[in-house]
Amino acid sequence: MLTKVIEQAKIDRFARWMGHAERIVIVAHVAPDGDAIGSSLGLWHFLNSQEKTANVIVPNAFPDFLRWMPGSKDVLLYDRYKEFADKLIAEAEIICCLDFNALSRIDAMADAIKAAKGKKILIDHHLYPEEFCDITISHPTISSTSELVFRLICRMGYFNEITKQGAECIYTGMMTDTGGFTYNSNNREIYFIISELLSKGIDKDDIYRKVYNTYSESRLRLMGYVLSQMRVYPDYHAALISLTKNEQGRFNYIRGDSEGFVNIPLSIKDVVFSCFLREDTEKPMIKVSLRSVGTFPCNQLAAEFFNGGGHLNASGGEFYGTMDEAKRVLERALEKFKPLLNAKG
Ligand code: 5GP
Ligand code: MN
Repeated sequence: MLTKVIEQAKIDRFARWMGHAERIVIVAHVAPDGDAIGSSLGLWHFLNSQEKTANVIVPNAFPDFLRWMPGSKDVLLYDRYKEFADKLIAEAEIICCLDFNALSRIDAMADAIKAAKGKKILIDHHLYPEEFCDITISHPTISSTSELVFRLICRMGYFNEITKQGAECIYTGMMTDTGGFTYNSNNREIYFIISELLSKGIDKDDIYRKVYNTYSESRLRLMGYVLSQMRVYPDYHAALISLTKNEQGRFNYIRGDSEGFVNIPLSIKDVVFSCFLREDTEKPMIKVSLRSVGTFPCNQLAAEFFNGGGHLNASGGEFYGTMDEAKRVLERALEKFKPLLNAKG
């Protein structure tokens, strides 16, 4: 049995809305990851089973390694089909906001979602949700939004309606947001849920292979190059990797090629904090990705130094300036956070 994590009143209210609604839009965050797409498609498959007209809309493209997911071809990209997406958003009776806590996380879609007349529900696990929805289901202690979607569907009494395809999507989100169940994954109920998803016929080993072991040769060579340039700061238990636009060009970089790189330095003994700085190819900025193990709060560092935020162990931000400036800011941040970086635990 699962603990009743989501408040009953919120489940009842959403179930009532659903009973009366035909057109439902599901929205997830910019640069969607496995949990954004997994939770959205997990909910989408369920709504389809209820004969609703549901559409998943995300701000921009998602990585190739998620394209095998059942339903991914029907995900609408806002930056390519804005007019059609705006119409769907305006006409939706319910808008489900998944895996983000603030309108700024959906970039150019924010205005349309804010202005939409439909009832809005947030289902998310990031800290400090903004109040922009009628129902806010926010549980930062739950490791993925996909898990919350599973819990919501079950609590509404529809476990039997979850299809194999829906289960594959939910599993993918749970797996990717925990690094293949290697962090944020000590809650034993996760494994109860996995057992339930396996009962739907999913092949979890095959999903792992499709997500993590289908990269291109150039991605692997890029990884080798990035690691050869890595800087380790032993006195701070930290490591830094970076990628300029020029370097991306040399390795035929395509979007998603550096996915997961930021985690690799954490495999060094005694490194508890990793930073990845990547020059963006679209916006004039450096995308900052931060990861930690243990108690080091990378979200605090992201907020104070890189205009960002996120989870304790996985966060990010943006930096407007040169790569050298970004590195200097990081080094200042390391100095400021030195006591926490050296704390045991
Ligand atoms: P990633 O490193 O995978 O891009 O991001 C990891 C996590 O950091 C995301 O799930 C999100 O919670 C947070 N994050 C990433 N970029 C930003 C940002 O620019 N602003 C904020 N507030 N959070 C971010
Ligand atoms: Mn997530």
